[in-house]
Amino acid sequence: MSIPVTVVGIGKIARDQHLPAIAGNPDFHLAAAVSRHGTVEGVPNFTDFDRFLAEGPAGPVALCTPPSVRLEMALKTIAAGRDLLIEKPPAATLGEIETISAAARDAGVVLFATWHSRFAPAVAPARAWIAERKVERVTITWKEDVRRWHPGQAWIWQPGGFGVFDPGINALSILTEILPGAIHVGAATLEVPQNCATPIAAQLAMTARGTVPVAAAFDWRHEGVQTWDIEVEASGQRLTLGMGGAQMAIDGTPVDLPAEAEYPEIYRHFARLVAARESDADFAPLRLCADAFLVGRQVAVAPFTE
Ligand code: NAP
Repeated sequence: MSIPVTVVGIGKIARDQHLPAIAGNPDFHLAAAVSRHGTVEGVPNFTDFDRFLAEGPAGPVALCTPPSVRLEMALKTIAAGRDLLIEKPPAATLGEIETISAAARDAGVVLFATWHSRFAPAVAPARAWIAERKVERVTITWKEDVRRWHPGQAWIWQPGGFGVFDPGINALSILTEILPGAIHVGAATLEVPQNCATPIAAQLAMTARGTVPVAAAFDWRHEGVQTWDIEVEASGQRLTLGMGGAQMAIDGTPVDLPAEAEYPEIYRHFARLVAARESDADFAPLRLCADAFLVGRQVAVAPFTE
C-alpha cells in the first residue's frame, strides 16, 4: 500500500529532489504540501503547519525547511504520532537533534535524519575499499559558488544557517560514513563576511583514528570549476571521490559506478525504515560542524553581496 507523505517547505530541494523522488517511488504518494509561499499542483496545500497537522491528510512528514526551524516542527510532527524525514543538517544544534531523536524514540515514531550525500554511488564502494587498507591521509576540497547554488537564500547567512557548512556538512557526512571511528577537530579557521553571521569559507584540521590527518577546505567564493572532492591516501594508493561522490577513481583510474540517485535512494530507505519501524539518525557530521565552530578562530572578511 502506498504511503501518503506530506512535504513541508516547498523551496529548492523540495522541488528539485523530494517531489520527483516521491513521484518515482511506488511506496509513496504526495498527500499534501505545506509552505507559506510555495504550492504544489494536484494536492491540498496548507500555509499553516499547525492547521495541516490538525486537519491535513495522515501519514509521514518530510521536513525540507531550513535547520533553524526544525525543532518546533519536528516535535509537533512527533507529538502528532507521524513518522518524520528531515533534510540535512538535521537541526541547528546538537541539543536540538538530541531532543528530536529522544522524542521520536519515546513516541515510537520513525525518525530518518537524512544525509543525501551518503547515498552517492561512490560512498559504499569507497567505504569497502578503505576497510581493507591502512588510511594515511584524507583531503577534502569543497569549493562552489554560493551565488549559483543558493540564490536568494537569506537564512544561510543568519545564525543557525551554517554558512559554507551547509554544503560542507555533506563532505563531513561522507567522511564519517567511509571512515568509521572517532574524528576530532583540532583547529579551524572560519572566514565570516563582515555583514553575515555565518562563514563563507572554512579550513578544518581534523584527526581520525587518533593519528590520521584529515584536512578540509570549504569555500563558497569559488567561481571556477565547481569542486566536491575527497582524496584518501591508504596503503600506498590514492582513492578519489569526485563530484560529491558521483565519481570514484583509484590512482587516477576511474571506477564504473551506477548513476547518481541520492534522493530516490533516500525514499527507498525511508520506506524500509517505516516498514521495519526503525529510525536512522546519525549526528556525527553535525558534531564535527559544532566542534569546528567551538574551536574555530573567526576571521572577518569582505562583506557578501548577492
Ligand atoms: P530554500 O530554497 O530556502 O527552501 C526552504 C523552504 O523552507 C522555503 O521555501 C520556505 O518556504 C520554507 N521555510 C519555512 N520556514 C522558513 C524560514 N524561517 N526561513 C526560510 N525558509 C523557511 O532552501 P533549500 O535549498 O530547499 O534548503 C532546505 C534544506 O534542504 C536545508 O536544510 C538544506 O541544507 C537542504 N538541502 C538543500 C540542497 C540544495 O541544493 N539547495 C541540497 C540538499 C539539501 P515558505 O516560505 O514557502 O514557507
